Amino acid sequence: MKEFKEAGLNSEILQAISEMGFVKPTPIQDKTIAHLLNTRKDLIGLAQTGTGKTAAFGLPIIQQIDLNVQKTQALILCPTRELCMQITKDFNSFSKYLPKVKTTAIYGGSSMENQIRALDKGVHIVVGTPGRVLDLIHKKKLKIDSISWLVLDEADEMLNMGFKEDLDEILSAVTSDRQTLLFSATMPREIAQIAKHYMKDPDEISAGQKNTAAENVQHHYYLVQAKDRYTALKRIADVNPDIYGIVFCRTREETQDVADKLIGDGYNADALHGNLSQYQRDQVMNRFRTQHLQLLVATDVAARGLDVSSLTHIINYNLPDDPDIYLHRSGRTGRAGKSGIAISIIHSKEKFQLKMIENRSKIRFEQKKVPDGISICEKQLFNLVDKVVNIEVNKVQIERFLPYIYDKLSDLSRDELIQHFISVEFNQFLVYYKDAPDLNISLDTRRNERERDRGQDRNFDKNQDRGFVKPTRNGDFSRFFINIGSRDSMDKPNMIKLIASRIKDRSVEIGKVDVMKNFSFFEIESSYENQTLKAFEMAEFKGRPLNVELSNNRTMEMPDRKKPKKYK
Ligand code: AMP
Repeated sequence: MKEFKEAGLNSEILQAISEMGFVKPTPIQDKTIAHLLNTRKDLIGLAQTGTGKTAAFGLPIIQQIDLNVQKTQALILCPTRELCMQITKDFNSFSKYLPKVKTTAIYGGSSMENQIRALDKGVHIVVGTPGRVLDLIHKKKLKIDSISWLVLDEADEMLNMGFKEDLDEILSAVTSDRQTLLFSATMPREIAQIAKHYMKDPDEISAGQKNTAAENVQHHYYLVQAKDRYTALKRIADVNPDIYGIVFCRTREETQDVADKLIGDGYNADALHGNLSQYQRDQVMNRFRTQHLQLLVATDVAARGLDVSSLTHIINYNLPDDPDIYLHRSGRTGRAGKSGIAISIIHSKEKFQLKMIENRSKIRFEQKKVPDGISICEKQLFNLVDKVVNIEVNKVQIERFLPYIYDKLSDLSRDELIQHFISVEFNQFLVYYKDAPDLNISLDTRRNERERDRGQDRNFDKNQDRGFVKPTRNGDFSRFFINIGSRDSMDKPNMIKLIASRIKDRSVEIGKVDVMKNFSFFEIESSYENQTLKAFEMAEFKGRPLNVELSNNRTMEMPDRKKPKKYK
């Protein structure tokens, strides 16, 4: 099907979805609309959130509602209150030009009286969570004798949430000449059993590529020790200052714990999980939807009802056991033509799970290095400078404060002024990341060994490059800045060679070496500070004068970078 109008949908529905910006049916819509308009056979659809499945079952059901019958004709079951509300909202939009079609949502955690009142008025379509639906069936407020369509949406999640018994009871109670539709992102054994017991010879469809967004999503992983998971998460957030994403955790407790830590560490984050009250969940989701929250730490189930299309990142704080859940999570980014990144923080024992996900889906994981303190500081600094350059200055509003401000700042030179303003925001990062350890677990042991052997000659600490927290050292170290980096074909072993060749004294211990693009830092035992500075006096590298200084006061000075534009 190329266009919606070829699907046999009526003009009122076509008008409504055209106003919603739907031009072409998605693959699941293509198949499901045709199925529902042409046959009464049951249907199993393998489809995830974001594939357009609400319209896939919603449009043909709305079209076939008999407006002469004031009874509930379609019952849609879904796992959460949020999804109920979302589906009901979508249905109301689809039926904008069919105002007589009535849809209502019924879900737990909210007044039953209002829902009963809505049912009493007569509704054609009920969207509900299984527990509340069952309560209202028992109270005889929801009548199910005229149900023509029964939809189980996100069936796997309903089972995960413990609705199996409620579903069994509802499925047994609803009239047998209904058409049953079951949608699920995954197909565990329990779903197959439901299909076997309650569906009649169902057709099966899948949305083709299970996750249509996957093409735009890059899959990265970071290998760290389990104890460093949280620190790695913080570094990932810090190196992506404009991150807008969901951090998926396994349990409600872990979700709350990670969110609490992030909030305590000053991140714009909050938790979303089933232990929160409805009110708290609504508040958190609203703040996240409106981008007042940057990081949402959530369980899979709680994040289900959240339809946000502009996420930059999905972070798997833990890998899910089920590859389909991984795909489902990662499909929440890279939507609506945008690109996205799905990140997994794993330890070495979880590598086999990555392989399993790779084997089951067509994605490939790329290993990334947990950024070190210097690159994070660099990223944050340039982000800050960009913000300063691009900020819209409201001259009228600040005019009357300016004389006082100019007066206060009059003793500072232009350079000092820039340094002071930058330091206000930036000092926290410098302090936090000073001497930050390398968190990466290196798998390339051969390379490590080679590097270690070369370093041993020069007292290069064996532990340093294995990613262990701190090299074993005899005493204090001083940190030096040097004006060459990887752009000058410098790497860590060569830097150590160079330092050793200048200092010449083999008893001097070399500590941590950080080679950046345009410059590097290295550590030498503090008692050899002067000797080191002397050793580099008049030194050259490939015909260029070498500049070595103690880095304490100039940690981020970058002689090779373009100078910032002059302020007028
Ligand atoms: P769903 O999978 O039903 O939650 O839909 C995901 C998002 O895609 C929602 O924001 C829908 O409004 C949107 N959507 C659904 N079908 C289409 C379509 N054919 N064209 C454009 N957007 C769509």
